[in-house]
Amino acid sequence: MAYVIAEPCRSQRCAACYAVCPAGAIGGDYHDEQMYIDPDRCIDCGLCQEACPSGAIFLEEDLPEAWAEYARLNREYFRRPPT
Ligand code: SF4
Ligand code: SF4
Repeated sequence: MAYVIAEPCRSQRCAACYAVCPAGAIGGDYHDEQMYIDPDRCIDCGLCQEACPSGAIFLEEDLPEAWAEYARLNREYFRRPPT
């Protein structure tokens, strides 16, 4: 299980989550639409969820159905081949 960043982050990318993550699990840069969480690094501490002003972060099992695809989008972000 890991936390997942969903649709409300799009166009926000405030990076509050990035600043509090103790595991270096959050990525995303200026040309990405949103920030993402690496499920292999996330230690489920919940600090990012508390810090997010947009309500964009959920435990995977709590993801609203409409945003279910974001679990895959977060995972795949960290498995992209290097460009
Ligand atoms: S804190 Fe929330 S809105 Fe800000 S970058 Fe992280 S997920 Fe996106
Ligand atoms: S739950 Fe904790 S370890 Fe996982 S991404 Fe959020 S701050 Fe990082």
